[in-house]
Amino acid sequence: MSLDDHAEDLASDLGVDKEEVKADLENLVEYSVPVEEAKQSLRRKYGDGGGGSGGPSEVDVADVTTDQGNVTVTAKVLTAGKRSIRYQGDEQVIREGELADETGRISYTAWQEFGLSPGDTVTVGNAGVREWEGDPELNLGESTNVAYADDIDVPDEAGGDSDLSTLEPGDRGRNVEVTVVEVERKTIDGRDGETEINSGVLADETARLPFTDWEAREAVVEGATLRAEDVYVREFRGVPSVNLSEFTTVEPLDREVEVSDTATRMSVRDAVSTGGAYDVEVLANVVAVRDGSGLIERCPECGRVTQNGQCRSHGDVDGQDDLRVKAILDDGTGTVTAVLDDELTAEVYGGDLDDAREQARDAMDKEVVADRIRERIVGREFRVRGNLSVDDYGANLEVTEFEASDESPTDRATALLAEVAE
Ligand SMILES: [Zn+2]
Repeated sequence: MSLDDHAEDLASDLGVDKEEVKADLENLVEYSVPVEEAKQSLRRKYGDGGGGSGGPSEVDVADVTTDQGNVTVTAKVLTAGKRSIRYQGDEQVIREGELADETGRISYTAWQEFGLSPGDTVTVGNAGVREWEGDPELNLGESTNVAYADDIDVPDEAGGDSDLSTLEPGDRGRNVEVTVVEVERKTIDGRDGETEINSGVLADETARLPFTDWEAREAVVEGATLRAEDVYVREFRGVPSVNLSEFTTVEPLDREVEVSDTATRMSVRDAVSTGGAYDVEVLANVVAVRDGSGLIERCPECGRVTQNGQCRSHGDVDGQDDLRVKAILDDGTGTVTAVLDDELTAEVYGGDLDDAREQARDAMDKEVVADRIRERIVGREFRVRGNLSVDDYGANLEVTEFEASDESPTDRATALLAEVAE
């Protein structure tokens, strides 16, 4: 960095004339003052926080990294969700959400009440930076100060109103308008003993997602249309799940929420790129049936598939027969492994568990069951609906519907061309 660059830096940080700062800087350096020390002394001269070490200088949101211990940013509050956590044995209410400036968005956790509310533009002084789910996050604690600042324009809308299709695990302080499609009252072992919860499926115009209502609200009944404010999103079995906490407000809606009964049709590539999606549908060819399909054995303790009577967790076990298919689907944009349960497997096999046992006994080989399934489905196109999860080993589609496609190859080709042309 040249002296000129240092001067430019300082001048923009301090909001003073660059030439003036540069003259001062040159002067000090001429007297053999190291440049960092010289800058520090000029910060004091021009009144940036004063103090020996000075405060952290202000940075753009996009430039915040976990290498910085503390930063100061001026940003708009997009969301401000409330959540109660247990910290060092005590119940504590925290605020969490996202801040944004012109350069980007960043999530934050506020460990005390700073009065943050969506739409406010604030200067957050001396916020800690830590890593959260792979990205930098601001931590607002005891040594942080928050001051209102002049309103700034940001590309993101403040407030947290969201479509279900845009929600991702980690989202907080969001508002949704939904229809309750399915709901079940359950008793679980919560952190304060037995608790009643509601769990089921919510839908709006864009998607369907599983949800948990930790307060077992009476208003959350099948068919109800609701506006829920301040919900958070967690990953549950690989897909986003909407959580209604004690701080979530739920109001009946006086409008209908159109929900579609059909799953969201996606290309395999788009589905996999979501990182996990609930109730999606792909149209794809079965290109192979993987090992571990057909007549299999499961550990009676944990349900894992056993290899030669061995469970990975429980060793030598007396395995229980089951039917399963792991089929590789390919639609030209990508591949995903479809996992069919016993009922769907019986359909594609064309027989039940007893039939499979008999066929295997006659042939003295279990693999004949998988072979018959291969003959029946490999090379054919299917409409496959299910819940998609993605992990280090690849993408899996837990199948709920598996039907031979009745769409004409021409329609299919047109759709694929449109996809490729995007
Ligand atoms: Zn086991």
